Amino acid sequence: MNRIEISVDDKLEKCTECGYALGFHISVEREKGNLRLILHCPHCGTEYDPGLVLQASPAESGGK
Ligand SMILES: [Zn+2]
Repeated sequence: MNRIEISVDDKLEKCTECGYALGFHISVEREKGNLRLILHCPHCGTEYDPGLVLQASPAESGGK
């Protein structure tokens, strides 16, 4: 799947690949105990990585 890294300085109001402009879906990937937010275009499936990482709570970070 095509994944595009974007910086927080960029504006992301619509998909740069297909022009879809009604918002993005969000998924979460576990990364070294933290959670990375990934945006998905619901129309063409392009993924955007805005570099947003959430710190998981200690109770949840030791799992699978
Ligand atoms: Zn798209």
